[in-house]
Amino acid sequence: MKGVSLPVITDPPDDHREVEAWLQALGGPAWFMLEGEDDRRCRVVTTLLHGNEPSGTLALHRWLAERPRPRTRLAVLLANVRGALSHPTFTHRHTPDDRDLNRCFRPPFEGPSGELARAIIGDLEAWAPECVIDLHNTSGNGPAFAVATHRQPVVEALCGRLCEQLIVTDMRLGSLMELPLTRPRLAGCPVFTLECGGALQPAARDVAEELYRLLAECPDLAALPAAPGLEVLVHPLRVELCPGASVAYDRLPRAGVDVTLWSRIDEHNRGVTSPSATLGWLGPRGLACLQARDGEGRERVQELFREREGRLHARRPLRLFMATTNSDIARSDCLFYAVPLA
Ligand SMILES: [Zn+2]
Repeated sequence: MKGVSLPVITDPPDDHREVEAWLQALGGPAWFMLEGEDDRRCRVVTTLLHGNEPSGTLALHRWLAERPRPRTRLAVLLANVRGALSHPTFTHRHTPDDRDLNRCFRPPFEGPSGELARAIIGDLEAWAPECVIDLHNTSGNGPAFAVATHRQPVVEALCGRLCEQLIVTDMRLGSLMELPLTRPRLAGCPVFTLECGGALQPAARDVAEELYRLLAECPDLAALPAAPGLEVLVHPLRVELCPGASVAYDRLPRAGVDVTLWSRIDEHNRGVTSPSATLGWLGPRGLACLQARDGEGRERVQELFREREGRLHARRPLRLFMATTNSDIARSDCLFYAVPLA
């Protein structure tokens, strides 16, 4: 396809091979391009940017068996096929020798992930899509939610049909959803990340399939009415370990660890976290092992938390998101996101 750099498969398989065999046949990143009733328009879903987040791929595999015929062209990218196939399948966020692809959508585009990000950007710019949805699994279990860089009616109308929460973040990490801010040819394009739930949750695959159906069936995205009930949470804080700090997950404080988080901290991904709940236990450094910077780089951890008799508590009601119980993700990415409520 002219001007497009990644392989484009225009006749997606609808055979009954297992997903793993399907990915092996691809061998690397590839677009599936479903022709639409109106081929002048194109909508895009990207998924499998993280190799341990299979729901977007599993849902696509299931949905393609119905031989869907979308209203517009629908391009679906399976990005980190190599990471997903690294043994054991669907357990590697990225291959050990590479960077997190969803931090590579800005210069300098170094290494294999940087080059892949640049190729994806080139393809998106060539297609000028009506929307781009980047489909992920959450690191812990929890309900689906969406993330965007700013408020936009089309984004809110789509999100409202797929999940109950939209997080508007001012943090800039080099993720795919930031492209409209940095690439003039994608300016104004509705883009968001859909975190469809935990990798092993059947409901996550259903949400992902719902996304494909919505994009395939909606005649006019701009005419989608606003969905009532979508909660929009603005500017969450990313709660991280300070460099060198240690973390464990347990039901009791672990000796010699800076912060032991409650082993089911991911239960806080739902609802409001009250100041009375024990989130974990702090070591001798207390809160100094944690940081929570806002989009302007200000440190806000003292506003969010306090220490009571060695325990970690919210200072005021918080909404927590993406709390993981995987200490590798906690160390390499973050512990969770928090939005202070009034
Ligand atoms: Zn992800």
